[in-house]
Amino acid sequence: MYHSIADNPDDLYSVTVETFREQLSWLSDHGFEIVTLSFLLQALRARSHGDLLKKVVLTFDDGYQDFFTDALPVLSDRGAPATVFLVTDMLGGRALWNGAAARGRLMTEDEVRAIKARGMSLGSHTATHANLPLLDEAEMLRELTDSCDRLGFLGESFRVFSYPWGQWSPRVVETVKAAGYECALAVGGWMRTASANTYLLPRVTMTREMGLKDFRSRLMRRPIETGARRLCRALLDKVSRVASASEG
Ligand SMILES: [Zn+2]
Repeated sequence: MYHSIADNPDDLYSVTVETFREQLSWLSDHGFEIVTLSFLLQALRARSHGDLLKKVVLTFDDGYQDFFTDALPVLSDRGAPATVFLVTDMLGGRALWNGAAARGRLMTEDEVRAIKARGMSLGSHTATHANLPLLDEAEMLRELTDSCDRLGFLGESFRVFSYPWGQWSPRVVETVKAAGYECALAVGGWMRTASANTYLLPRVTMTREMGLKDFRSRLMRRPIETGARRLCRALLDKVSRVASASEG
């Protein structure tokens, strides 16, 4: 989960374009493949968990203009896909909800259409970057359906969602489903593929303080546990239970 690709020391969630390029190089040098969010969702639904080994999905929250100017050229060079989660009522405006990046411009509608034309997919991050658990039912539904409709208007047919501030509640998750989204992305956490909740998919937060060593270790400690890894863990648990029983 990236946000802004910029050199902004005031914004912890920005990553410089040099670092971003270095991270993508590390991924390809180490055999990771960047896939679309829809690939991930299809594999989870089909329970083909082995297809997810060494696969990475890139997402960008908020829709900063620097995605268009700085991230897109790096992605295009590599033919790598990404999903950008837009604050649909604020296209062409500024990220007023983020004190650190308030000067940061958001993509205009033309820029959004241009990234879509270049193979990027679009998602909703609500209409106004709302903190959904604080809203009543009608306000929440409006944030979700207005932004969902806007995605269609921008040419996106695959409807996906990312929770602003990473904030959700069981009531929010149910409303996201009811509004017609195919899946939703949370912040942090991790899960097992076999019991994946596709409306609370975990993500790794990228920050400007994350060095390549930390980046590497976070990828090795995958947020989504595959079937093979789960099996190894279960076998190790069993061995240790047998060992402790025999010790007892
Ligand atoms: Zn956001």
